[in-house]
Amino acid sequence: MKTFIIILSVLSVFTAKADFPNAAQDCISDLKKFPGVTDDKLLKQACDKVKVDARCVSAEGRAIYHYEKMATTSGAKKVLVFSLIHGDETHAGTVGRYWMERLESIDPRNSWRVVPVLNPDGVKLKTRTNANKIDINRNFPTKDWDVGAVENWKRTTKSNPRRFPGAEAASEPETKCAVHHIEDFQPDFVVSVHTPLKVLDFDGPKVSPPPKFDYLPWRSLGNYPGSLGRYMWLERQTPVLTMELKENLPPNLAPFEKLQDIIGTLVKIDAGKVKENTAAEPTSFLPVALDH
Ligand SMILES: [Zn+2]
Repeated sequence: MKTFIIILSVLSVFTAKADFPNAAQDCISDLKKFPGVTDDKLLKQACDKVKVDARCVSAEGRAIYHYEKMATTSGAKKVLVFSLIHGDETHAGTVGRYWMERLESIDPRNSWRVVPVLNPDGVKLKTRTNANKIDINRNFPTKDWDVGAVENWKRTTKSNPRRFPGAEAASEPETKCAVHHIEDFQPDFVVSVHTPLKVLDFDGPKVSPPPKFDYLPWRSLGNYPGSLGRYMWLERQTPVLTMELKENLPPNLAPFEKLQDIIGTLVKIDAGKVKENTAAEPTSFLPVALDH
């Protein structure tokens, strides 16, 4: 009986990994498609370490792999990065890839988990939404989802199909995968990489003045029923930095390196003690049509 159970356990582990035996190779070929310079050696090193959780399979059956680099120092915090929640924001993939490569070359102060392509079907289809035509960043199971998500979508976007929150909270496999990473990794800080609003939007404790970052200005875009910012910051007091890139990449990737270091500093702020920036309603300074 014991042997039987062991065989079953081995088989189940084998099955979880066997579903995507080419994850490392897929990671390399997927990430190399994003623009900007890449370091083949570091990319291979990083992609050789990616894993696919059994719960992280897209609506069309693609692997949503993740990379992790744990800090070796004491006092390290945990940073969780999602890029390409929206599949048509190609340059977001460049940041995920660059940070994975860079983490391979340094001994980081903090532990990082990077999900470089959260919405692989959207990338393939060149759509903001996933294959089921749902905006993952409106599908997170916030407490107000049932009363607010569809109503907010109708009212503020005039039922824009690019922002459809879905028929129910966390209905989508990509959302479930993100929630799984949040629960499994227990991040102290979440980074979500988007394009093209040219701002850094911080849902977190008030930081005054914000760290100097010349490449993008800090602005508050607010958060929404079903959005990652509302789910993590308003409901869990875990800060979320939404990086909205420009339409073009910078001439070199130094700003992304600088931002990674800024995050390393921001994450040390004790969010549990400072909860000033907790407006319940969106405080958008940009036209709603542009919201992330
Ligand atoms: Zn976006």
